Amino acid sequence: MARLTRGHVSAVANEQLSGKQLVALAIEVSDYAVAPHSRFHVGAALESEDGIIYTGCNVESDSYGLTICAERVALTKALSEGARSFNRIAIIGIQYDENGVPAKQEHGITEIDGLGPCGACRQLLWDHCRDIEVIGGTSNGEVGRVWRLANLLPDAFHIDR
Ligand SMILES: [Zn+2]
Repeated sequence: MARLTRGHVSAVANEQLSGKQLVALAIEVSDYAVAPHSRFHVGAALESEDGIIYTGCNVESDSYGLTICAERVALTKALSEGARSFNRIAIIGIQYDENGVPAKQEHGITEIDGLGPCGACRQLLWDHCRDIEVIGGTSNGEVGRVWRLANLLPDAFHIDR
């Protein structure tokens, strides 16, 4: 099992993590979400080709449009540490209420059956990761849905490098 170390590179696995283990890392890092406006805490765990897991949480701004998603935090951490090839990313979201406890809602954003990345993140992930596996985790730690990024962003824009 990967050991989670707070702060920088998130985990190094000796053997490939299960999807559920990757979701668990995404849930753990979502504790650090800075989301005073939405109270929607998102965590992402991006696995590089050599088995390093880079995690990220969402960081909101008082100027709402400047908010940065968890996926892009994980991606930029990875790129800034030299990673260039990736296998998978797991994403989860947990809605908290005004008292800081996970919200129970009729239509259950907490029970969401697999959170997918927003459009901007799909493009950034495509730019740097190409057709990776995307694991939409649930807030209770299950693998909800699994996609290929090419299916989430068909006919994606890119410039050949
Ligand atoms: Zn996003």
